[in-house]
Amino acid sequence: MSVRVRFAPSPTGMLHVGALRDALFKSLFARHNGGINILRIEDTDRNRYSPESEQEFIDTLSWVGIEFDEGPHIGGPNAPYRQSERKEAGIYAGWIEKLLELGYAYKAFDTAQELEQMREIQTAQKQSTGYFGGIWRDATPDQVEAAIADGKPYVIRQRIPRDTTISIEDAIRGHVEWDSNTIDDPVLIKADGMPTYHFASMVDDHLMEITHIIRGEEWLSSAPKHAALFDAFGWQRPIFVHCPVIVGTDGKKLSKRHGATRVLDYAAQGFLKGPLKNFIALIGWSPGDDREILSEQELVDAFDLKGLQPSPGKFDIEKLRWLNGNAIRALDPVDLLDVLIDYLRTPYTLEYFNQLEPEVGQPDPKRVEATLILLDRAIQDDRGYALEAIKLEQQRVHTLADFGIECEFFFVDALAMEEKAVDKWFSQPTTRALFEFLLDQCNSTFGPDSEPSVYEEALREFQTAQGLDKLGPVVHPTRVALTGKTTGPGLFELMSVLGPERIRTRVERAMELLR
Ligand code: GLU
Repeated sequence: MSVRVRFAPSPTGMLHVGALRDALFKSLFARHNGGINILRIEDTDRNRYSPESEQEFIDTLSWVGIEFDEGPHIGGPNAPYRQSERKEAGIYAGWIEKLLELGYAYKAFDTAQELEQMREIQTAQKQSTGYFGGIWRDATPDQVEAAIADGKPYVIRQRIPRDTTISIEDAIRGHVEWDSNTIDDPVLIKADGMPTYHFASMVDDHLMEITHIIRGEEWLSSAPKHAALFDAFGWQRPIFVHCPVIVGTDGKKLSKRHGATRVLDYAAQGFLKGPLKNFIALIGWSPGDDREILSEQELVDAFDLKGLQPSPGKFDIEKLRWLNGNAIRALDPVDLLDVLIDYLRTPYTLEYFNQLEPEVGQPDPKRVEATLILLDRAIQDDRGYALEAIKLEQQRVHTLADFGIECEFFFVDALAMEEKAVDKWFSQPTTRALFEFLLDQCNSTFGPDSEPSVYEEALREFQTAQGLDKLGPVVHPTRVALTGKTTGPGLFELMSVLGPERIRTRVERAMELLR
């Protein structure tokens, strides 16, 4: 049996992390098994469907690198792949007729008011709400004909078998069963003739010969309806695979409160698609050993359903940052520069920071935006210099966005200085002499091509000359004068990148701030 899976979103909004994981699992499973991965757009709820959202799904999936073998954007033997178009093509009409004939569906003429009343009574009697029969499930053919003759609108509902057990064998959860009396009769065809998700999705899964329905756990409660539908037609059921929910590190269902949930926002924050995929794949799935860093090919090779866990998968942003930092460090600096340029020039990057609300403990989004603009300009002005700066920061950042704030000091001579650092290090007894020494060295020893060792030797020479036990009173004031802050890449390396011209300008400025 060759594997056939489908990602079948109902595009009504943004593409969230949960849906991305769903899509990723299917794509890895299909590729591992040399199978087919289909994109099908479930847009039968016309009030909620949005073409912009469909575009976001397609664009984001293609950015992440999830590929399909069939879909609305590429066509294929099962076209069309949008359910609204399939409805227009008459694909569902015959199947609902058949189901009516088989007795597994019926027409229900309840008015909205009647349904409301039913719900009120059920609530008052503390019963589960839903349509478990009403008068139409068991209506005689005459009653139905009379209602049609009266021109009453109707929906078509699934006749769920009663007084029995419906069970599935889920690939993750094993045997799951339901008392069929707890399952309501879902609407399959709406009054306007449009199929609902329950019907269109299952008919399509059959027609597209889907072998595995891999989807989020939130669909588990629909599985008995879907299984019953396959049984009613006498079709072979696909294998159900209900993936665990994603929770934050606090164990609660993933939501805005845990940070961004829109996949595009992760791109805007400067996460690379490789580590993002690596990270997402490990939420609720494990390769069976303790590997945490897996390349695309390793994911494909290792992915099987046995590695899926029933317990909730944890979304730990720190792990993503760690993976991302590793991936950035693994890049050749010249390639990294290209990746960074792409990132800076993707319009959504700046838009994202522009509209982001400031948050405690996070850098001010407006500042991030400004430093990213600065970085882009700096790359255009002097690519070689920018590359040297990026090489140093490559060792320290977690995301592409970090390059903005971290690299800022390379490009701005009139830096904002950290008050506290200035107070402490510009009041040392030897700082004035140090700055004078640095200015002097800019005119003699330091040259545009001086290696870090030249700077190191000079600073050590100053330390010895002053009889200082430690290098601290030499390196700290120098770092603050040159970068405005107390942390950053190695001092000698950054001095070598800045070169004597910038060092002179900055030390002169720092002299004015001596305490
Ligand atoms: N259209 C459904 C969704 O939006 C598909 C659920 C399924 O995979 O069966 O998630």
